[in-house]
Amino acid sequence: MASAPKTLQEAIIYFADAENCRTFLADRRWPNGVVCPRCGSKNVGVIKSRGLWQCKDRSHPKAQFSIKVGTIFEDSAIGLDKWLTAMWMLANFKNGVSSHELARSLGVTQKSAWFMLQRLRLALQETGGGLLSGEVEVDETFIGGKSRNMHIEKRRRRITGTGGADKTVVFGMVERGGKVRAQVVPDRRKRTLQTEVRANVEAGAALYSDALLSYDGLERDYAHGVIDHAVEYADGAVHTNTMENFWSLLKRGISGTYISIEPFHLFRYLDEQAFRYNNRKDMTDSDRFVLAASQIVGKRLTYAEVTGKVGETIN
Ligand SMILES: [Zn+2]
Repeated sequence: MASAPKTLQEAIIYFADAENCRTFLADRRWPNGVVCPRCGSKNVGVIKSRGLWQCKDRSHPKAQFSIKVGTIFEDSAIGLDKWLTAMWMLANFKNGVSSHELARSLGVTQKSAWFMLQRLRLALQETGGGLLSGEVEVDETFIGGKSRNMHIEKRRRRITGTGGADKTVVFGMVERGGKVRAQVVPDRRKRTLQTEVRANVEAGAALYSDALLSYDGLERDYAHGVIDHAVEYADGAVHTNTMENFWSLLKRGISGTYISIEPFHLFRYLDEQAFRYNNRKDMTDSDRFVLAASQIVGKRLTYAEVTGKVGETIN
């Protein structure tokens, strides 16, 4: 297996060659030899001149296939040189990449770049992963809306418990020294938040949250420490600083790079930020890129699915 490029510059040079793109992806997708993505047959030949493979089990249509079939790249006319460069950038740039920056960097339209980023975020999405355990912090935050004074807003909401109609509620859970999970939730009600906690955190874990009443009752299954924000200091281990650090990373990325995000798309930005956060330690840019590239299979997103605009196509 060819080793992966070490830097963005190396990646751009290496993936300028279409054969390198195919080999790189095929080696990782099919380490034991190419498999037909439609029928699973290993009886596959190469059509080298066209950069395609041919399933020799001809009993099914579309027996010829490219490396893009069955991945986030399926049906895209954009070359793998651009796709893999974009993947490198998104997996590694701390604050993400805007569709405008990507469009300028790659020479594609902003609309294409936006769609590429949405598909790439799908590849960054973590699946499975088991329960968080040990010491776990949980917290909610609000994204979006027009408020300029988030501090006062946040305080007000801690008192009233409302998020405002123009805000999206995001719920996050992080294992100290481990992984974060963040997702959009419909509200901050007890049932909503506690369902998420129980689905993601191992019973018996130490759980830290603020004093929101929705967390009441979790002490039956967890060693629940509650932070009183009315006092200015953190009580030893009882804090949600790790979760709050993640929120600042997320908000810096959103306000600095993306300017505005429709609530409908917010979960993809959460997946993107969580990918970089969860893979920040003991990993090189190259490692993160290879990990992202290993997650392209079995995921697909059509333009209509991303935008809700049926009948419109892109790229
Ligand atoms: Zn086949």
